[in-house]
Amino acid sequence: MSWLRSAFGKPHVTSTTPSASLIDSIDPRHLAFDIDGVVADTMKVFVDLARERYGLHHLTKELLTCYDLRRCVPAPAHVIDELICLTLDDEHTAKIPAMEGAARVLEQLAREAPLRFVTARIWSDSIERWLHALLPGIDRQRITVIATGDPERKHSILHALKVRHFVEDRLETCHILAKTQRIGLEKQLF
Ligand SMILES: [Mg+2]
Repeated sequence: MSWLRSAFGKPHVTSTTPSASLIDSIDPRHLAFDIDGVVADTMKVFVDLARERYGLHHLTKELLTCYDLRRCVPAPAHVIDELICLTLDDEHTAKIPAMEGAARVLEQLAREAPLRFVTARIWSDSIERWLHALLPGIDRQRITVIATGDPERKHSILHALKVRHFVEDRLETCHILAKTQRIGLEKQLF
């Protein structure tokens, strides 16, 4: 699966298995993806809005080092909350750029298995439309998006979907998945 490796860079693997052999052993039928921060470059829009609306011109994506943005963005909590709401609303979700290479990888994967996405967003509609726009050549019936509303509820959804490999950018979620033996998730990438 060199396309997976090339699109997402060298992944960090929460496993003792070497990364190359892990990637080569992934069966697309057992794979699922987070969306924001994995397929969608959502923080690009957050940073743009922070600069345009609140004058946070020094803010860069590199400074967003933690999932709890209140801990790494030098702005009042209410400003950060408003920026998050704006970033995730329908208008701005539609403007989120895709991660480099993501569309190509997903198109190749879709030839082998349906695509499955599990997001912590509260509603799936806008990000589902975003995926359909990103992947116009893929039958919409082969794209499933499940919104959990909470990253800590992902493990039960992944268990129900019988997912064995989940691509996720939130370290805390990876740790939860690694600890939740009952879901049978063998390895995670983030
Ligand atoms: Mg994410």
